[in-house]
Amino acid sequence: MRLDKFICKSTELSKAEAQLRISSGDVSVNGEITTNEAMQVHENNTILLNGTKLKARAFRYVLMHKPAGTICSNIDEVYPSLFNHLDIDNVSELHIAGRLDADTTGMVLITDDGRWSYNITVPTKACRKVYRVGLSKPIADGVVDRFKQGVQLQGEQHLTRPADLEIVSPKEVLLTITEGKFHQVKRMFAAVGNRVNTLHREAIGDVSLDLKVGEWRYLTHDEVQSFT
Ligand code: URA
Repeated sequence: MRLDKFICKSTELSKAEAQLRISSGDVSVNGEITTNEAMQVHENNTILLNGTKLKARAFRYVLMHKPAGTICSNIDEVYPSLFNHLDIDNVSELHIAGRLDADTTGMVLITDDGRWSYNITVPTKACRKVYRVGLSKPIADGVVDRFKQGVQLQGEQHLTRPADLEIVSPKEVLLTITEGKFHQVKRMFAAVGNRVNTLHREAIGDVSLDLKVGEWRYLTHDEVQSFT
C-alpha cells in the first residue's frame, strides 16, 4: 500500500497529517528517509516515524445482511447508509466489495483492504455472486441458454459473461454471475423482456449468508483466505 496510507493505518494521523510528516523528512523506510508519500510499502518493511517503529492495524473483513431501503455508501443520502448497522470504530475507512441497490437485500462484504476487495469485484477473477430473483412474469423458454451465452446490455460494448440460471419456480430463479456491472441483474432480465421485482444476494464466492436482516459478523480466517 502507499506509504501515506500505511501511516494513517498505523497512527491516529489523518492523510494530510501523514503526508506532512513524510514531506518533513520524519519518516524512514528500511533505514532511508523518504519524502515520497506514494512509495509502495509492505508490512515487512521497517517504517519509522521520528524513530518509532510503526505497525499497521489489522485489516477488517465484515459480512452483513443488508436490509432493504439502505444504501451501500458511507453517508446517508436519500436512504440511510448500511453502515448505521455496523457498530465498530473508524467506519469511514471501510468500503463495500460489490455494492447492492437500495431495494436489494442480502449479503455484502465490507473491508478496509482494497487489494482483497479487488479480488471480489474484478471480473477477471470470476468470483461468483448468487442472487435469488423474484420476477414480474414467468421466465421465458430459452433464457437459461441466453444467459449462458451472454446477453447484450444496453450501453455496454461486450456481452455479459456466461451466467448460470436455476429455475426455482416460474417467477423465482437463482442467478449466478461473475461480474458486477451497474444494475447488472435488473438489466439482464430487462434484456430478455422480464422485470425484477425482488432481488436478494445469497452468496459470494464460497461464503453464504447466514445472518438475519441487519446483522453482521467478522469473517473467519478461512473465509477471508477463500477470496485471495
Ligand atoms: N444487480 C442489480 O441489478 N442490482 C443489485 O443490487 C445487484 C446486482
